[in-house]
Amino acid sequence: MDIIFYHPSFNNNDWIRALRQALPQANIRAWTPGDNAHADYALVWHPPVEMLKGRQLKAVFALGAGVDSILSQLHAHPEMLPESIPLFRLEDTGMGLQMQEYAVSQVLHWFRRFDDYQALKQQAKWQPLEEYEREDFTIGVLGAGVLGTKVAESLRQWGFPLRSWSRSRKNIPGVTSFAGGEELPAFLHGTRVLINLLPNTPETTGIINRALLNQLADNSYVINLARGVHVVEGDLLAALESGKLKGAMLDVFSREPLPSDNPLWAHPRVAMTPHMAATTRRSEAVAFIAQAIQRIERGEAVSGRVDRARGY
Ligand code: NDP
Repeated sequence: MDIIFYHPSFNNNDWIRALRQALPQANIRAWTPGDNAHADYALVWHPPVEMLKGRQLKAVFALGAGVDSILSQLHAHPEMLPESIPLFRLEDTGMGLQMQEYAVSQVLHWFRRFDDYQALKQQAKWQPLEEYEREDFTIGVLGAGVLGTKVAESLRQWGFPLRSWSRSRKNIPGVTSFAGGEELPAFLHGTRVLINLLPNTPETTGIINRALLNQLADNSYVINLARGVHVVEGDLLAALESGKLKGAMLDVFSREPLPSDNPLWAHPRVAMTPHMAATTRRSEAVAFIAQAIQRIERGEAVSGRVDRARGY
């Protein structure tokens, strides 16, 4: 079995060593331009067109959870990968725990009003504030897939009212499920903290816009952990100014790195991180891919297949 690997920024040697340990029967090599030798599987991130084009692959694995960039590449170059060759993505592989850490710490930060206390501290003011009520802190998770479910589950132990929104109905204990566009208004009504974990698809681009933000509770908060293009930045800033939003925590942006003149940098109630909410963990990702390849070789079903028409 021949496997080719390409990632523009990972340490290829470390990955290939780990893959060889997990799949000792396979010949695994880093792909370099001009390599047209046989391959059964390709493990990729931002692959050059020539790497995949014309190959009779059994499967391609994206080395991340979000496949919007590879799908837009395939849209521009359909010859790169025929629909008949399955494309898989990483499911969880350590990202769930990282998303939980991020979301829980930020929700508790706001719930215990550490943002307000920080502002008071800067004025040298000793002033206990009114506590927020848990019942007034409904958390709504946009996207109840692998990562959204993990995040909702981690918030359950803190006793907040929880709800999720997805395309299909979910049954996550302690989380009220809303499904489809027609239930989005009900999901938003009364939501105080909105956490975005949707994939980037034509249907979800720009979803966090003025119309959506206006439906949230007053003094609400947004955590964007998914993709920058989900948020209409001007609408987010306007909602912060109008008082509809009290704060935002952003990990992802329409343009990354975020240009230095972007007004989000200077906004006192916007916190941000440089797209680090959840990174691909090598050992978990290698274990996931190795197990998936073994299952494919045995003719068994494998989860994580991307539905190219659906966009995720
Ligand atoms: P999944 O595919 O497992 O989950 C996606 C969820 O979104 C599903 O519940 C799906 O509904 C729902 N959904 C998709 N389209 C719609 C729609 N039009 N209307 C309503 N619901 C919709 O993805 P993951 O949980 O693994 O990952 C989510 C995203 O997180 C990734 O796509 C990626 O962009 C982002 N990400 C960000 C990282 C970071 O560091 N900031 C790191 C890793 C991922 P249904 O279940 O019904 O299909």
